Amino acid sequence: MTRARNLQVRYVNAPRGWVREADFAVCEGEIPRAAEGEFVVANRYLSLDPYQRRQMMPGVEYATALRIGDVMVGRTVGEVIESRHPQYRVGEFVCGSLGWQQFSASDGAGVHKVDPQAAPLSAYLGVLGSPGLTAWVGLTSIARPQPHETVIVSAAAGAVGGVAGQIAKIAGCRAVGIAGGAAKCAFVVDTLGFDACVDYKAPQFREALAAATPAGIDVDFENVGGAVFDAVLERLNDYARVALCGLVSQYNLTAPYPMQNLAALLNKNVMLQGFRVGNYQQHRPAAMNDLAQWLADGRLKYRETVAAGLADAPRAFVGMLRGENLGKQLVKIA
Ligand code: NDP
Repeated sequence: MTRARNLQVRYVNAPRGWVREADFAVCEGEIPRAAEGEFVVANRYLSLDPYQRRQMMPGVEYATALRIGDVMVGRTVGEVIESRHPQYRVGEFVCGSLGWQQFSASDGAGVHKVDPQAAPLSAYLGVLGSPGLTAWVGLTSIARPQPHETVIVSAAAGAVGGVAGQIAKIAGCRAVGIAGGAAKCAFVVDTLGFDACVDYKAPQFREALAAATPAGIDVDFENVGGAVFDAVLERLNDYARVALCGLVSQYNLTAPYPMQNLAALLNKNVMLQGFRVGNYQQHRPAAMNDLAQWLADGRLKYRETVAAGLADAPRAFVGMLRGENLGKQLVKIA
C-alpha cells in the first residue's frame, strides 16, 4: 500500500548554458518509511545554493554529478517524524542534505541536530549553517585579515558574502562589498554595516572600486570570478590574500572566462587559496559559537528571501543565480 504523497522536485534536463525552470519537474513520490537504523524527516525549509548548479555539470569534480531523474540535491532543515535510529527521536529537528522534497529518509550520515529554541529553523541553513561556516572559514582560517586592512567581498548581498563582510568588520577591517545594483549596495552598507559597496553593473565600476579602496585591497573574499575578479586583482596590495570561495559568474557559462590579470598574483606576491567548506568541518563548533554570539549581541545581521512551496523552487533557484535574492535564498516547504 502506498502512503500519502511526497512532493519532490527532480532534475529532468541537463542545461547547456543558463539553467531554466524547465530543467526541473515537480512530481510526487511516496513518503518513505524508516528502515532499521533510519529516521524520516518532514522537511520545513530547503536551501537553494549555487553549488546545486555545479552538480548539474557532468564533469563536476568535487561531488557526485546529478543524473537525469534524480531528486535535486539540497540541504534542508526539518522535524523527525518517525525513527528506528538509536540517536534520533521523533520531534527532534535536524539539518542535512535531504533533497528537494517534503519527506526524506536518512541513516544520519551528514545530518546534525539543531535547536529550534536557540534560533529560527531557517537560520540553520544560512547564517548558522553552511553559508555562515563558509564565511567564517574563508576569513578566520584562510585569509586571516588584520585590523585596519581592507577586505573586499563579492556577492556581498548574498548569504555567504553578507556574513563574510560583517566578520571582516568585527575583525576591525575596512569591509567593502561588490554587488549588483544600487538597492543591493544600499542594503550592504545600511543594513549589514559594510563601509562601502560598489555596483559591478554600473558603467564606472572600476573607478568606483578604486574610490572605495583608497589604500588598495589586502584580502579578497572571492565569490564571483570573471570580470569582477579581474578588476579586484588590479587593486591588490603586496602580500594580499585571496580566499577563493566561489565563481558564481561562471556556473551557467558553456566555456570558462579566461582570466586577464593572472600576473597580478605573481607581481604582488599574492597568496590565493581555494577552499571547499566540506573539508573544513572541524571548524564548525568554533564558527557556530562565534556566529551565535555575534547574532545574540547584535553585531551580525542577516536577511532571507523565502519562496513559498516546493513547486516554486525551480523559479527561485534560477532567480537566485540571476541575483534576485537578497541574503539567503530559501524555500518554505511546510
Ligand atoms: P548568494 O546568496 O550570494 O547568491 C548568488 C549571488 O551571486 C546572486 O545573488 C548574485 O548577486 C551573484 N551573481 C550571480 N551572477 C553573477 C555575476 N555574473 N557576477 C557577479 N555576481 C553574480 O549565494 P551564496 O552566498 O550561497 O554563494 C556565494 C558564492 O559562494 C558562490 O560562488 C558559491 O558557489 C560559493 N560557495 C562556496 C562554498 C565553498 O565551500 N567554497 C560554500 C558555499 C558557497 P548580485 O545580484 O550581486 O549579482
